[in-house]
Amino acid sequence: MQNDKPVTHTVGHLIDGRTVADTARTQALFNPATGQVSAHVALAGKATVEQAIASAEKAFPAWRATPPLKRARVMSQLKVLLEQHADEIAALITAEHGKVLADAHGELQRGIENVEYASYAPELLKGEHSRNVGPGIDSWSEFQALGVTAGITPFNFPAMVPLWMWPMAVACGNTFVLKPSERDPSSALFIAELAQQAGLPPGVLNVVNGDKEAVDTLLHDPRVKAVSFVGSTPIAEYIYAEGCKHGKRVQALGGAKNHAIVMPDADIAGAVSAMMGAAYGSCGERCMAVPLIVCVGDDTADAMIAGLKTEIARMKVGPGTDNANDMGPLVTQPHFDKVKGYVDQGVAEGARLLVDGRALKVAGHEGGYFLGPCLFDGVKPGMAIYQEEIFGPVLGIVRVPTLQDGMQLIDDHEYGNGTCIFTRDGEAARYFTDHIQVGMVGVNVPLPVPVAYHSFGGWKRSLFGDLHAYGPDAVRFYTKRKTITQRWPSAGVREGAVFSFPSSR
Ligand code: NAD
Repeated sequence: MQNDKPVTHTVGHLIDGRTVADTARTQALFNPATGQVSAHVALAGKATVEQAIASAEKAFPAWRATPPLKRARVMSQLKVLLEQHADEIAALITAEHGKVLADAHGELQRGIENVEYASYAPELLKGEHSRNVGPGIDSWSEFQALGVTAGITPFNFPAMVPLWMWPMAVACGNTFVLKPSERDPSSALFIAELAQQAGLPPGVLNVVNGDKEAVDTLLHDPRVKAVSFVGSTPIAEYIYAEGCKHGKRVQALGGAKNHAIVMPDADIAGAVSAMMGAAYGSCGERCMAVPLIVCVGDDTADAMIAGLKTEIARMKVGPGTDNANDMGPLVTQPHFDKVKGYVDQGVAEGARLLVDGRALKVAGHEGGYFLGPCLFDGVKPGMAIYQEEIFGPVLGIVRVPTLQDGMQLIDDHEYGNGTCIFTRDGEAARYFTDHIQVGMVGVNVPLPVPVAYHSFGGWKRSLFGDLHAYGPDAVRFYTKRKTITQRWPSAGVREGAVFSFPSSR
């Protein structure tokens, strides 16, 4: 069914606790299942972003002085509101991103777990204390808020990735300016409005929608002390360099090309099921998706292909609003064209296209950005479909003779976000986890996305900066350590001047 509802609104900003309408410069939002324009989004200019930064700066002193437990209670209340509004948020995600509703609920649940972890901030901020480091001297370290912090997020997890960032930032006493993806901004804005309802004072969290102009304003403004970014590698690299140049603390998470190794002794049926979700879930638009299966031995490859072809034939592709579907559309027409272009290029470069999803049509949704699942065999390093992040439902089989060969491929690749191995051999699995040059590793787990109380981040060109996202690293990223050394001499005790360097000798 085509969506021919009239375009009724422009998604604005949230500044100083108020929704700000802004139609000066806008961009269309599309329903990916129909190809129809569903709304517009405001693209904030420099002055609007500066207004948001000013609001965050004004809110900072009082919020910093608010006892951590009171800040944490806002997070606890937000968790309740997110659970109450989960259906509404999932519907917003699906309408703009296209993913199937069950998948949208899954992403939201992961985001809620980050809010839950942020509600433990008082415990996480406790610091370190040492008594009597010298005569009558005590010393302690505490973790103080930075001030105004900012986040810039990608389209593929429009609710979850913002929740990786700002809940912990504000629970640590910072204020925040969020710049969501301009392709699907509504769920992040709605969640920010829920945070106000949960008790977040005006200005503690501001949301500005926009594009490069908004991002550059955040990167260049000296009032912004730290920037978290998640998105593609070229932009991550730019954000890191530009943010550092302007004196900010920056963490910039980039793209990925995750390989799964399947060993000859693996549970092949289990690996096939796992790979179906990892390759085609969310239409392959996940930074932890697995677009490459490295099969050790031809028998392993042939068995995997047979299983995958059977499962692909059973897949249902259609609008994300119907939970009976396994996969929805790609996010936009340009992204559809790009992914389809990679499939064309893979064929031209000599990979064997075993399953071709390019001709897929979804009845009643002819204008949607649907691409059927694609499966290649004979994928090799040097081919674009091997080297580059496709971010679509395109899975490639790579054949290698040994585990060492497979690991070498992974280590040689520019990205190092996630990887996994399927095997029944504990020794092989242990060797793999110990040596592989990748940040997040699974053993018989296809998407080793860390839970909220561990941190998330890749290696190599999948992350620029030192600290990973969310979990314990987020507490360190959004605070600076101060170490205080204090003496209260007993009455009447006076030491003479000491000119040597103080030590405990
Ligand atoms: P993107 O890099 O195009 O956009 C991300 C953000 O950067 C958006 O908010 C966008 O407005 C902004 N942006 C885009 N171009 C810019 C420019 N020239 N200057 C300044 N800002 C700019 O990424 P995307 O397409 O929205 O998301 C998909 C990418 O994100 C994939 O590469 C995926 O692997 C990656 N990703 C990584 C992780 C991770 O944790 N490593 C998680 C999710 C997504």
